[in-house]
Amino acid sequence: MAIEDVDTWLYADGPEDLDEYFVEHDCLYEPGEVTHSVCSGCGGIIFGMHGNLDTGDVEWICRGCGQAQLVAGCERSWLPGEPAISRCDCGERDFNVAVGRSTRPTDRVRYLSMMQRCITCGSLGTFAAKKLPPQAQSVCP
Ligand SMILES: [Zn+2]
Ligand SMILES: [Zn+2]
Repeated sequence: MAIEDVDTWLYADGPEDLDEYFVEHDCLYEPGEVTHSVCSGCGGIIFGMHGNLDTGDVEWICRGCGQAQLVAGCERSWLPGEPAISRCDCGERDFNVAVGRSTRPTDRVRYLSMMQRCITCGSLGTFAAKKLPPQAQSVCP
């Protein structure tokens, strides 16, 4: 369980390292909880991700059973066949996924970071990010 820094690229041994990645590298405001995505259908933790990078709306698809699920607070704001698809520089499209939540106490704006760890090379990154109004649901898959 460690993050390795190679020429500004970050690599991690396991999905739990996304917690440290969030706090150290990807937290916009005060760090809140990190929710690791687990498929409600089969318990799988390997996903493909796609979405609309302009709006920050993201959906993941479980590689174990094919179930698709929108990250909480997201909507399907892309046209069919047109979502951006997450792909690692190594070519891999399968990831461990975690959603980091941070808040700005003054106006309670919440910020969601949809983070990923490549299951082939371990590279860490943020696929998309989204700002949510205070009243929006914040339960994440
Ligand atoms: Zn599944
Ligand atoms: Zn990779």
